[in-house]
Amino acid sequence: MADQKFNPFQMAQQQFDNVAKQLNLDQATCDLLRKPEREYHFSIPVRMDDGTYKVFQGFRCQHSDARGPAKGGIRFHPNETVDTVRALSMWMTWKTSCVDIPLGGAKGGVICDPRVMSLREQELVCRGFVRQIWKNVGPIQDVPAPDVMTNGQMMIWMLDEYEKITGMKYPGFITGKPVGVGGSLGRTEATGFGAIYALREALKEKGIDIAQTTASVQGFGNVAQFAIKHYTELGGKVIAVSCWDNNVKKPITFKKLSGTNYEELIGITDKFGTIDQEKAKSLGFEILPGEEWIKQDVDILMPAALENQINADTVKFISPKVKIINECANGPTTPEADVVIKERGIFVIPDFLCNAGGVTCSYFEQVQNNQNFYWSREEVLAKLDQKMTAAYHGVSDMAKERKVYMRDAAYMIAIKRVADAVKLRGWV
Ligand code: NAD
Repeated sequence: MADQKFNPFQMAQQQFDNVAKQLNLDQATCDLLRKPEREYHFSIPVRMDDGTYKVFQGFRCQHSDARGPAKGGIRFHPNETVDTVRALSMWMTWKTSCVDIPLGGAKGGVICDPRVMSLREQELVCRGFVRQIWKNVGPIQDVPAPDVMTNGQMMIWMLDEYEKITGMKYPGFITGKPVGVGGSLGRTEATGFGAIYALREALKEKGIDIAQTTASVQGFGNVAQFAIKHYTELGGKVIAVSCWDNNVKKPITFKKLSGTNYEELIGITDKFGTIDQEKAKSLGFEILPGEEWIKQDVDILMPAALENQINADTVKFISPKVKIINECANGPTTPEADVVIKERGIFVIPDFLCNAGGVTCSYFEQVQNNQNFYWSREEVLAKLDQKMTAAYHGVSDMAKERKVYMRDAAYMIAIKRVADAVKLRGWV
């Protein structure tokens, strides 16, 4: 996020331009789809616990609502930038399109660090965000959700503020809500599980037994936790996990050759996904520098933290043993790294396919909110598995048929659906 050299929006546009050319998209459609349809920038004044006032900068970018209401999370991060939010809003459009759910793409962000804010201060930022944007979002306009450093509690504060302002009950205003207040069973695990449903299909296609594979994971937040949980349930072995250490402001890697799992790590992890080093040592983990996660001799790499992690500088560290990169995070791989990965023949399950389980389950949450009738966890996860499996095979078939890289195949499917929608609507 904070890297001066890295601009995620330029990267998202570069990826789009590359595929738009291959699809022969006309100029007007390209002009429309290579940037958000609209974006909002606003200030959120908050009275802090010490009595001083602080003004936080918020953004909401709506990239496309051609296929349905815009949809996308809200991130709280000290290094958030509008270009990150723009890029993420664009990737949301491709994501909802790739898994073929009737929604568009949006993203929001606030420049703040909830790790150093009290719950009261966090609540005021959440409520302030909604007060600034409520007219331009809503269940049939643009539906937010949690993302990096935001959670179900924050979604309820936001929902409560929206309902107070509008004077109505709109559970479908926001997704990722806790169960019992409009949330869906299965939503917490949906992104991580979805990523493993896609990986499972890829391994099946390649004739590789998942129980014979090893993985190294970057991050131990919501997505990584449940990806690790399901991957190890299917027999895979996770030998390294990294996370951000906010005390030293550096990432660290935890390695255990005998393998680790969700249950072991979750007990020594805080709510921001930071693993306790001392406790990890006592459980037999070796503590290594953050970048070590990418150097491991494993079959599968799962970047599940932030964007720009596999880039021109780091791609050379990927071990010759790596067969698959399962992109759990958004935008973890830069176009420069893609060139090397393609050359080396490493199979990529691209981000907006791999991590689409979260938004798919958010869509299920909205459907349940609209019906005011809630499904069992088994039903939610079975429907999620169906959607992810179908989307994976759609992309994989396209990659084989057109003899293209998996990322390009995913883009071709996603962009074509959105381009068809804008044409059908008569926009261009
Ligand atoms: P999170 O805030 O719950 O966890 C992030 C994790 O990454 C934490 O463990 C943190 O310590 C770690 N981390 C941060 N910087 C790091 C670094 N430089 N090196 C190593 N670890 C680092 O976030 P999340 O919800 O798990 O999201 C992770 C990624 O997945 C993001 O790219 C997000 O946009 C994407 N994503 C999330 C969802 C969802 O449902 N939560 C859905 C789709 C995509």
